[in-house]
Amino acid sequence: MNYSDIAPQNPSVELHNKVILITGAGAGIGAQLALGAARAGATVLLLGRNEENLNSVYDQIVSEGLNEPVVIPMDLSKLDEQQANQLSHMIGEAFGRLDGLVHNASLLGKLGPIATTNLSEWSQVMHVNAFAPVVLTKAMLALLRESDAASIIFTSSGVGRQARAFWGAYSASKFATEAIAGILAAELETDGIRVNCVNPGATNTKMRRAAFPGESPDSIASAESLVPAYLFLLSDSAKAVRGASIDLQK
Ligand code: NAP
Repeated sequence: MNYSDIAPQNPSVELHNKVILITGAGAGIGAQLALGAARAGATVLLLGRNEENLNSVYDQIVSEGLNEPVVIPMDLSKLDEQQANQLSHMIGEAFGRLDGLVHNASLLGKLGPIATTNLSEWSQVMHVNAFAPVVLTKAMLALLRESDAASIIFTSSGVGRQARAFWGAYSASKFATEAIAGILAAELETDGIRVNCVNPGATNTKMRRAAFPGESPDSIASAESLVPAYLFLLSDSAKAVRGASIDLQK
């Protein structure tokens, strides 16, 4: 489904008092989303592997006088259940609940044919993109159940819907992501937790520039322009939207 089919004309996006964990919050779409969610009143938990990037998002949010975020330096390629449970414990102690979980972090990996793929790199991409979100979700479910209306957003891609030569582990990980989101949405159908999966579409970020080095960055969407759609999906205005796979751009 396309976002324009479900988006209200002028969505009033209100995230006051919501506690939202965003992975890959130090750069690209995740950083813009973190800023947008903080401006909408949320307390954002900034998870990523590059602490300097996370700190600069933290500084920006604090400089605007918004709710103080939490920086969570974490390499998702090494995430295991124990670490995820520790994080869940820490969030529980500090906030008692979680209202939003955005699985945004991803590794592109090296594009090329399966015939010559580096298998340890394949495994790392799968770990970050398709395994870590399961580990994190499993650990956070109890906290998400403490929310009045929790929203989980998974991040897919065009190559998570249609296989394309040379997109290797990244494409495979995004097909897996679509499946994980669908499975979880069905399992939580009668729960207070909504699960959706978004495909941002071509967006001007470091990842896009790595995948399409010849493309003019000005010819595609900015990360900032996608933020309202994410905020809507995290907000209570989107309570009826669940189990959907959504293209954020036409
Ligand atoms: P990006 O600018 O490359 O950002 C990716 C983020 O993921 C970065 O913050 C990065 O952290 C984080 N990350 C990568 N590996 C990690 C690890 N091992 N542990 C923790 N964090 C890690 O990419 P983006 O374009 O914003 O991508 C956001 C999401 O949109 C991804 O899921 C991507 O697949 C999806 N997407 C993007 C496009 C597009 O055109 N941009 C299209 C379709 C789908 P560091 O700052 O530490 O590197």
